[in-house]
Amino acid sequence: MLITADCEGGNSKHIRQVGEDHWAANVVADQPGGYRYYFHLRLVGDDRPHRIQLDVYPDPDISDGGIRTFAGDVAAIVWVRRGQSWHAVPYASFAGEDTLEAGADGYRITLSVAPREELRLSNVLPIFYSELGGYLEELTARYGTYARVGTLGESAEGRLLHYLSVAEGEGLERRPRVVIAAGEHATEAAGAWAVRGIGEYLLSSVPEARAWRRRYRFELIPMTNPDGAVLGRPCFTAQGANLIQSYADAANGTSPGVAEASALWRWLRAQPVALYLNFHGYVGPRGHGDPPYEGCYVVPSSVYSDGDRGRQVALIDALRFNTAALSQHQQFPIIPATHAAHQLALLDGTPTALYEPNMVNGRSGCMQCGITVLRAAMMALEGGGNSAR
Ligand SMILES: [Zn+2]
Repeated sequence: MLITADCEGGNSKHIRQVGEDHWAANVVADQPGGYRYYFHLRLVGDDRPHRIQLDVYPDPDISDGGIRTFAGDVAAIVWVRRGQSWHAVPYASFAGEDTLEAGADGYRITLSVAPREELRLSNVLPIFYSELGGYLEELTARYGTYARVGTLGESAEGRLLHYLSVAEGEGLERRPRVVIAAGEHATEAAGAWAVRGIGEYLLSSVPEARAWRRRYRFELIPMTNPDGAVLGRPCFTAQGANLIQSYADAANGTSPGVAEASALWRWLRAQPVALYLNFHGYVGPRGHGDPPYEGCYVVPSSVYSDGDRGRQVALIDALRFNTAALSQHQQFPIIPATHAAHQLALLDGTPTALYEPNMVNGRSGCMQCGITVLRAAMMALEGGGNSAR
């Protein structure tokens, strides 16, 4: 048996055999106090079948250990890829199949590995950077008249920051611009799945989607931090930057010092943005939440000028009543002033929100969540925000 984190998105250290068909590993965290839950391993079978137990523990170098160190991010599902397809292994699934349990000190996962079989195992269902460009090209090949792809720049390590633009008809430059991004925190793939759902919805034959793409210009950025995603960093960039803290004072002309933030800020500033949605993602149920364990952060309407405030109030209300945004926090926490969304609100009065789908709802649940959030936000945008207060 070979068990390694040497693969795209891989994360684990101290991978060790502790008994016959019994292995253990520790996650690699980004910092104490947060961003310390993610693991992703590659397993390769030898010449006989195995049924292995793999225990996954917190990062001993930055925490005192214990499952609670995964604080608020304990996975209720692990994901296993056999061949090309991923399947979900829910918590406490039936014996005899792949299983996931959580003990006092970490996860315990049992897996059958066939001879020479290669598996991936992660608590987050990834969207691989290496497959993203090809996926976007496929969409343009299929919907070429109104889907275009491009790049808004490069990451610090030279990876492309892809975007997908969706708009149909003439006069695209004059249309309201809706920008939707995900993946600032590298492995919060729930958000990337949400943006993927939005993209496929906007390209579909659904009448609402067709009408929108004839009136607006949508720009989707599914992976803002490709270096972190490839390197398997839970949240930070390859340089150790946290992209929710990289835009301090940008509205006043301070340019972000981080390559990815600088590229995104240039993109956002190039033309006014009518609506900016940013997706992060939870990895599982968290304390104090209830199903479907989603969350939403907003820029408070008090930040906006009198003329712009109504549109942000309309967005906040639409999200409150038309999504599951209050299932994690019973009110909307504030997007920090160091985040691009907050700076864009200060610069242009752009209505904006940061939404967190939850990986526990699976790939289609996250895609559906993205579409639900988009519909609520478009309702607010189309309503014009007359309800200033
Ligand atoms: Zn995040």
